[in-house]
Amino acid sequence: PVVLGIESSCDETGAGLVRGGRLLGHAVASSMEEHARFGGVVPEIAARAHVHSFTPVVHRALAEAGLRMSDIGAVAVTTGPGLSGALQVGLAGAKGLAYALGVPLYGVHHLAGHVAADTLAHGPLPDPCVVLIVSGGHTSLLFVRDLARDPIVHLGDTLDDAAGECFDKVARVFRLPYPGGPAIDRMAREGDARAVTLPRPLTGPRDDPYTFSFSGLKTAAARWAERHRGQELPVADGAAALQEAVADVLTRKAVAACTAHGVGTLVVVGGVAANSRVRALAEERCAAAGLTLRVPPLKLCTDNGAMIAAIGDLLVRAGADPAPLDVSIDPSAPLEYAALHPVARP
Ligand code: ATP
Ligand code: MG
Ligand code: FE
Repeated sequence: PVVLGIESSCDETGAGLVRGGRLLGHAVASSMEEHARFGGVVPEIAARAHVHSFTPVVHRALAEAGLRMSDIGAVAVTTGPGLSGALQVGLAGAKGLAYALGVPLYGVHHLAGHVAADTLAHGPLPDPCVVLIVSGGHTSLLFVRDLARDPIVHLGDTLDDAAGECFDKVARVFRLPYPGGPAIDRMAREGDARAVTLPRPLTGPRDDPYTFSFSGLKTAAARWAERHRGQELPVADGAAALQEAVADVLTRKAVAACTAHGVGTLVVVGGVAANSRVRALAEERCAAAGLTLRVPPLKLCTDNGAMIAAIGDLLVRAGADPAPLDVSIDPSAPLEYAALHPVARP
């Protein structure tokens, strides 16, 4: 069947259509600009924007695919994690469509969607593979078998900030425009990473090899900026150094996880997988270690509906149970299984 995927966990409203592992069409609307003057996502504004964008985005995805509403055979929707008001809008819309069309509904984990995004570009994931998920809210190294069936094993997570959060927060200190990650990436091109010394947290011999920490790095970058008070801040150098430190730690640990577990493929997904230095350094280090690297194209790294359709499609083909129509959201769902069907709460 054609699977419609709906994403609304943060500030992107996404709809995607996938059949048999192939992306047929997708569309994304973002409320990013409405949040820019607040320096971060305002949950109430994000939820209202999803109400506004839901139907147009579904129609745009259908038009791109050359399909009609009646061609949809299943609906997958992000039920967590994310902002509760934002998730509620997508789930309510998805339930309405599934009910009206008489098709099954699947509640899926947003991060499993990020992982599945890569299958749209590069085909089925090898079993097993190591996945580095780096986004605005999460940074984890995962051992993945069959994404639709098996439990997802966490090799390590961040103790504090996510890598994307680190970029976003340091960008604010550097007075770069919102959102910070892409702004740091752009500025870094003009800078010299060696001009500023920043730490590589949790890379010592006694540190856990797969655990991350980015709050100390964020603080070190902020202190460096403070030392320039009253002078002009060499932002490009700071951005380059921060990006180098993040990319270095991420790729070093990810490659070590593959080597230690005898896994031949590293998959890097999530918004920070769009970072040019993360991509280049991952490429370089995987090649040196004899590993295959998979990274989705830029458009599929940040939040979108295609990735939710992709994981829905995998669940449908794996024969997973659909969600009951009274399924609810789970804003802080841990990543254990791709399908997220929490029981309805009163
Ligand atoms: P999560 O997926 O953890 O719930 P999210 O959905 O908000 O969080 P994503 O959409 O996956 O996160 O990614 C957004 C993050 O990616 C932001 O922190 C943003 O700054 C970062 N990001 C996007 N592009 C780049 C880039 N080129 N370089 C660095 N960071 C980037
Ligand atoms: Mg976003
Ligand atoms: Fe995301």
